[in-house]
Amino acid sequence: MRIAVISDVHANLEALQAVVRDIDKVKVDKIVFLGDAIGYGADPDKCVKIINNACEIKLLGNHDFVGMGLASPRYFNPVAKESIQWTQNTLKEKTITIMSNFELEATLLDYYFVHASPDDPSEWSYILTVNDAETNFKCFSQSFCFVGHSHQPIVFSQSPEGDVVIEEGVPFTAQPGYRYIINVGSIGQPRDGDPNACYLIADTDSNHFEHKRVAYDLEKAQKKMKKASLPESLITRLANGK
Ligand code: ZN
Repeated sequence: MRIAVISDVHANLEALQAVVRDIDKVKVDKIVFLGDAIGYGADPDKCVKIINNACEIKLLGNHDFVGMGLASPRYFNPVAKESIQWTQNTLKEKTITIMSNFELEATLLDYYFVHASPDDPSEWSYILTVNDAETNFKCFSQSFCFVGHSHQPIVFSQSPEGDVVIEEGVPFTAQPGYRYIINVGSIGQPRDGDPNACYLIADTDSNHFEHKRVAYDLEKAQKKMKKASLPESLITRLANGK
């Protein structure tokens, strides 16, 4: 079975539509969404609707939690706070109802899915370093953990002896006995220097994994954000990819 794993759409409709078209071309059996449908971008309601219809597994991220009014934005930086307040003011009640069916974590075969980290799915910790990964490998029992949250498409592997490293060769096929934490990257706001939307294709038979990059109408997304008076730094970062 081939699955597409997508994350961190952040209300960027143009990026999401381009990725959905790309997924249609490569043909998959299921789409899994790892959270952060909303926050930052100008199209939260439309993005939630598309995600809800297209994806079989749907998770919540920290921006979704705050946008739905389930948590306070006090840990958000000023621009994240400003954009989530804008989101709360425009979000339809119907959209919140749809999102209330999204989950915090999910499993499929030998795969575990969570937005931020398996150690505490509602704490929103980042897995950025080998140390972070070592801690988190102890917190799930499957061979593969898929995350988003940092918007950085990094892969950590753990050898049968327990040694954790950052995988250099991506795309890659899993080695027998090894375990992996795979960040699928971000659709709506990449932060690795490449502005193209990012997602992952996984083959559950061969355990071959490949990140895909998709160009989209970035200027259109930026124009809508400008019209909505969203923070300027969020608009310019889309073109910088960081
Ligand atoms: Zn995010």
